[in-house]
Amino acid sequence: MQDPFISFEKVSKSFGTFNVVDELYLSISRGEFVSMLGPSGSGKTTILMMLAGFEKPTSGKIFVGGRQVDALPPHKRNMGVVFQNYALFPHMSVAENVGFPLKMRRMPRAEADGRIKRALDMVQLGTMSERRPSQLSGGQQQRVALARALVFEPEVVLMDEPLGALDKKLREQMQLDIRELHRRLGLTIIFVTHDQGEALTMSDRIAVFNHGKIEQIGKPSEIYDHPTTRFVAEFVGETN
Ligand code: ADP
Repeated sequence: MQDPFISFEKVSKSFGTFNVVDELYLSISRGEFVSMLGPSGSGKTTILMMLAGFEKPTSGKIFVGGRQVDALPPHKRNMGVVFQNYALFPHMSVAENVGFPLKMRRMPRAEADGRIKRALDMVQLGTMSERRPSQLSGGQQQRVALARALVFEPEVVLMDEPLGALDKKLREQMQLDIRELHRRLGLTIIFVTHDQGEALTMSDRIAVFNHGKIEQIGKPSEIYDHPTTRFVAEFVGETN
């Protein structure tokens, strides 16, 4: 592998005496789409939170682009974040929702407007900027959340079960859209899911988690055809 773009070096996180992430080593290349797959409670969200800067590791180091980031606040890391509960503000227009992070950082209006427009164009919502969230479909609302995550033009986007609230058909469409966005913008995406099928179809690599540790990491075909532990075989096999 070329020099890793993102690396976790012996990262642990405990809440009280409970060790949620246990001596994690993980390297991700620039432009990769990596899914973190595992059952609920296996530590996936906590790992994303540490990468985004909302949680600090109890021990270990995190590097992004050669820079140690684990002590930096979220806004110094420039990562886009999308959650399942993406919480758009109902009283704001689409453009205001997307521009909210810019407003918080007091970006001048003209520059902010340009960025909002670019972000909405990226998710093909350029014509909907004046609508309210309630005037959009579920998929369009999710795209607004995506545009908001892209508004600082980050290289890295972290997604935590972003499609969990959508119905099957919409979910499949958004999976394609996110893959296309990943390719077109050259993003590095880390995608948390407990859905085996979703991880298998979307990812360049999958890290399968169990109790805060990686059980296996590899290409979808390796994980699917050659699970190295019983846990991986059973967990991934549940798609059948
Ligand atoms: P996953 O994303 O795989 O479902 P999480 O990272 O959300 O797993 O959680 C892993 C474990 O850590 C869970 O048992 C959860 O209850 C616990 N946990 C997460 N955040 C906190 C917190 N702030 N305080 C205490 N326990 C937490």
